[in-house]
Order: sequence, then C-alpha cells, then structure tokens
Amino acid sequence: MEKTGCVIIGAGVVGLAVAERLSLGSSEIVVLERRDSFGRETSSRNSEVIHAGFYYPASSLKAELCVEGNRLMYAFCRENSVSHRRCGKLVVARTKEEESKVLSLYEQGIANGVPGLSLLDARRISGLEPAVPAHAGILSDTTGIVDTHTFMKRLERRAQDRSVTIAYNCEAAGILRVNGSYRISVKDADGSLMELQCERVVNAAGLSADRIAAMAGIDPDKAGCRIHYCKGEYFSVSGRHRGKLSHLVYPAPTPISLGIHGVLGLDGALKLGPSAFYVNEINYDVDGSHRHDFFEAVQTLFPFIEEDDLSPDMAGIRPKLQYKGEAFRDFVIRDESDRGLPGFIDLIGIESPGITSALAIAKYVEKIMK
Ligand SMILES: Cc1cc2nc3c(=O)[nH]c(=O)nc-3n(C[C@H](O)[C@H](O)[C@H](O)COP(=O)(O)OP(=O)(O)OC[C@H]3O[C@@H](n4cnc5c(N)ncnc54)[C@H](O)[C@@H]3O)c2cc1C
Repeated sequence: MEKTGCVIIGAGVVGLAVAERLSLGSSEIVVLERRDSFGRETSSRNSEVIHAGFYYPASSLKAELCVEGNRLMYAFCRENSVSHRRCGKLVVARTKEEESKVLSLYEQGIANGVPGLSLLDARRISGLEPAVPAHAGILSDTTGIVDTHTFMKRLERRAQDRSVTIAYNCEAAGILRVNGSYRISVKDADGSLMELQCERVVNAAGLSADRIAAMAGIDPDKAGCRIHYCKGEYFSVSGRHRGKLSHLVYPAPTPISLGIHGVLGLDGALKLGPSAFYVNEINYDVDGSHRHDFFEAVQTLFPFIEEDDLSPDMAGIRPKLQYKGEAFRDFVIRDESDRGLPGFIDLIGIESPGITSALAIAKYVEKIMK
C-alpha cells in the first residue's frame, strides 16, 4: 500500500489552491482527480468574475474569504501572468423597490470591508454605461474578470514544482479510518483499485463533496451538508453588441442567485446568465426554449438586445447547501475531529464566490490544519 501525508480529493480550483498552499510546508501531498485533467466541472463552467464581497452577510465565511480572496487573486494574477481585467461592476436599480435592495448591498459591502464601493445616481450611471437605463446603483471598482483556466494551470504547475503528485483519472471510491490513519480506495480509469494510506484528507470534491463526507461515515442530512444541484444557463449575445458595455452590469440579486446579468469575457464578448433553477441530475445541456425567459429578464436592463441576438451557450451547476425557499447558507469548511475524523477537512457547498475565494480558502484550510 502506498503512503503519503495528505490526500486532497478533487482538482478543481479549490483542491488545486489548497495543494499549492500546503506544498509550501510539505511535499507529501497527493491530489486525486477522477477526470483526465483539472477543472473539468464547476471550475470551468462559471462567469469567471473576481467578486468584491458585498453579496454575503457580515461575518460569514463567504464575505471574509471573498474579500481576502479578491486581494490575493489580483496579486497572484500579476505575479504569475494570468490574464485578468479589473473592469469594475455596476449593480443597477431599475425600480424604487430595487433601489432599497441596492442600497442594502452597499451597506453590507461597507460592513464587510469591501474597498472601492460607491453609490451612483442615474446621471453617473449613464455616464459610465450609456446603454443601460437605471434609477440608481453601485459601482464596485475591485470587481474584475479572470482567465480561470490559466489560473488553475499556474496553481497546478506551482504545486507540481514543489513535488505534489496530481493523479488524474483516479477516483476516491472509499474511505476507512484504520489505526489512526485513513485508507482511501482509489479507482483508476480501467476500474483497477489500489489503496492509499494518509494522515490527513481534504475533501474538495465540489458537486460530490457530500458523497465523499458520507464515504468517511458522515450522514450529510444529519450534518446539514446535503448538496442540492442548482443549474445556471448562459446565452451568448450577438457580436454586433461587442463593446457596448465596459463594466459587468448586474440587476439587484434574487434570494438564490445574483440575477441574470451581463457577463463580459476577456475577449470582449458579451453573454447573459446564469439563470438559477434546481435540478436532480448533472446535465450541462442548455435548453434553447429558455431564450425568451432570458430576453424578458434583461429587457429593462439591456434594452438594446433583441431576442434574435441570443443563442444557447453553456451551463454550470452550483453545489448549493441552501434549498428552495431556505435561508442563506455559508461555505462549510471544517475539521471533522468532533465526528471522530481528526485531520479530515470537509469543504462543502463551495458555490460562488468559490473561484474568487480559492486562495483565501487555501490559507484558511492551512490554518485549521495547524
Ligand atoms: C453558473 C456558475 C457561475 C459561477 N460564477 C462564479 C464567478 O463568477 N466567480 C466566482 O468566484 N465563483 C463563481 N462560481 C462558483 C465557482 O465556480 C465554484 O465555487 C468553484 O469552481 C468550485 O470549485 P471546486 O474546486 O470546489 O469544485 P469543482 O470545480 O467542481 O472541482 C471538484 C473536483 O472534484 C472532482 N471529484 C469529485 N468527486 C471525486 C472523487 N470521488 N474522486 C476524485 N475526484 C473527484 C471533480 O471531478 C472535480 O474536478 C460559479 C458557479 C456556477 C455554477
């Protein structure tokens, strides 16, 4: 049986960031990834936005790790040549009711310590985005966009340069606690099984994180960490509107998502999304019949868009702890010693702002491991 110090399950952005961080202090790290490369699931199916941190309640991990992650992300991108753009973002109010929602976001952002936030009136908004009608809004100048593929590639390379083994096509298929260590059954692409013994486990399995916790003996329902899949579809906007927006432009958020907004790519292309609806299975097809709903959702936000400008693009699935109608749920990041699993770190419900927070999550994991 092979032995190592720490096994990280999952090579999405979070597993890679944790591997890169822990490799500063240890070379005995193996990352298990069931796909043939990194970031094949949620980490490559998202808006690639570097969030600022004003959407989440004060004192939540989401707020704390997003604000810190935003700062760490810009520094990492600069030092490691990862393409990014600090384009800024407007959250706009189209009605009086939305105006109070946007004002509370601003106040929450100030309470969370988000830098670079300002309140705008209609005149200032039309100066910044002439094609977007609005009563009022906020400008966040620390929001930006990033090339998440290159970000992950750099994390992978830095971890490998410090002797981390990243084992692709290797699925964690079972976890046992035996004589004070963990034994992980690993299934390769041919279905062959081998065992890996380690002292510590980091569960960064994204959409399967509740199943990995269950493998270790935790009941996800009793522990309050059952994941619900919440799909988000995107529609691309005709190239004739390229360059019409220079900021990310969002409406006021809904209880389960940030609302269908304008997503800018680093290449200047404009997309709309993501929508938010709960599903029972993982299926990334985009339903073309949702086009009209997208068109209606943005009619007052982007009046220059016509329905024929929209084409189905891609979809991602959020690993949500919050189910329909339930209250806000925070990231779950905990050492499971209290459940008889010392050195077993669960990372569950790492939905947005998971990309932005990845480097701060990694620091947090390092801290709780000590
Ligand atoms: C529609 C959408 C838009 C989003 N937009 C943003 C945004 O703009 N900004 C932002 O900050 N965040 C955003 N997010 C959130 C962000 O994408 C996620 O928080 C982040 O990608 C989660 O990364 P992860 O590493 O935890 O999970 P994943 O990327 O899902 O990685 C988990 C990995 O674990 C592997 N795995 C699972 N089970 C096993 C097993 N048994 N054995 C081995 N490997 C296993 C999987 O194959 C996968 O590669 C968005 C999410 C969605 C869905």
